[in-house]
Amino acid sequence: MRVTTYCPTCESELSFDSRRDLDQEATCSTCSDTVRLSFSSQIQTENMIDSCPSCGKKAFYIQKDFNRNLGLGIVVFCALAGIYFVWQDRPYLFYASLAVAVVAAAFLYLLLPEVTVCYACKAVFRGAVRNPEHKGFDLHIADVYEGRSQGYTDRI
Ligand SMILES: [Zn+2]
Ligand SMILES: [Zn+2]
Repeated sequence: MRVTTYCPTCESELSFDSRRDLDQEATCSTCSDTVRLSFSSQIQTENMIDSCPSCGKKAFYIQKDFNRNLGLGIVVFCALAGIYFVWQDRPYLFYASLAVAVVAAAFLYLLLPEVTVCYACKAVFRGAVRNPEHKGFDLHIADVYEGRSQGYTDRI
């Protein structure tokens, strides 16, 4: 799997590939800080996430790997087409272009791959075997990891 994590100093994105070594280092290209990841043996042998190689925590959620630019591009294109049809005095084509935008967005969403995200450090994992214990985003767990609920971190 590929792991995208963030430099703790400047928050630049850094990418790692779990198929390389268990312990890896990358130098941040922006601030030259060194970032270390340590992959668990389950990640390396089964390609399934059990603990975060970046922060060591064990809470993850699954989300769609939504490419905002692509989604926005479709909406903008269909909106422009709609405006063109209104200008051409063809309102039925305006509604048709709205329908195309909705269908295209829904279709894209279904086709999108899933990524796993670490609650604690927001590292993103692509191309992993889905761990059945990982569910969709849960605000309560996120609260704990983002420090809004103090004192519960040790129990998870
Ligand atoms: Zn950096
Ligand atoms: Zn993490």
